[in-house]
Amino acid sequence: TPIIELRNLSYSYGNSKIEALKDINLKIYPGEKVAFLGANGAGKSTLFKHLNGILKPNLGEALVHGEKISKKNISNVRQTVGIVFQNPDDQILAPTVEQDVAFGPVNMGLSEKEVDSRVKEALELVNIAGLEDRSPHHLSGGQKKRVAIAGILAMRPEVIVLDEPTAGLDPRGAENIMNVIEKMNHDLGITIILSTHDVDMVPLFADRVFLMHHGRIEAQGTSKEIFKQP
Ligand code: ADP
Ligand code: ADP
Repeated sequence: TPIIELRNLSYSYGNSKIEALKDINLKIYPGEKVAFLGANGAGKSTLFKHLNGILKPNLGEALVHGEKISKKNISNVRQTVGIVFQNPDDQILAPTVEQDVAFGPVNMGLSEKEVDSRVKEALELVNIAGLEDRSPHHLSGGQKKRVAIAGILAMRPEVIVLDEPTAGLDPRGAENIMNVIEKMNHDLGITIILSTHDVDMVPLFADRVFLMHHGRIEAQGTSKEIFKQP
């Protein structure tokens, strides 16, 4: 079964007349690396917020491991699917890097020892071991992004969703983040779903690609299918 499925899903914000998502259908399988492409406003962020129940569809449904997201399973769903938002400042709240990355595991009710070991492991995986005692707000853009990723990683999700993880980074910073993402997939088997404007990176990274336009999925296929020359 797919790890994530959206069925006939539509969504509008509040009393906005614009449908941010229109009849979305998709399946994502365990271990896949998937990329979403589309202009600003196409609906990528809105779609991502349906993958762990931050938003609730107006029509249709969102399923995780074949089970419709509901009040009953929402806390499980949030542990299975972690989201790294585009602006790390929205996600970074604690005074030190260590406390920030520990926030999720502490909330999960894990022992202090388990929290410490997860924080250490996550910081090593994203290559920022040594910055534990620094204030996350005074780090570079790339380092902040790693702190946000580590915070999600420390909860050991099966799926990590990243909204434009390389936005605002220089080419080297972007490459470093992509290496971290590849490692999470390859070494830990985490399913990766990301959005990006970096079209050159997509065929190198993604198994499958979704093209979004005005709230719809306009095309989907393997990287080979989507990027083939006409
Ligand atoms: P993308 O991530 O592809 O840039 P979004 O999902 O952010 O696209 O936006 C999809 C549509 O929903 C756009 O028309 C956008 O203006 C609208 N939208 C996004 N967030 C909100 C919000 N909080 N309230 C009202 N409309 C929103
Ligand atoms: P209430 O209406 O009592 O505030 P909700 O059922 O709207 O409660 O939601 C409780 C939490 O569970 C919210 O975070 C909501 O986003 C999430 N949730 C509930 N049902 C669904 C669903 N079918 N799909 C996605 N998220 C859901």
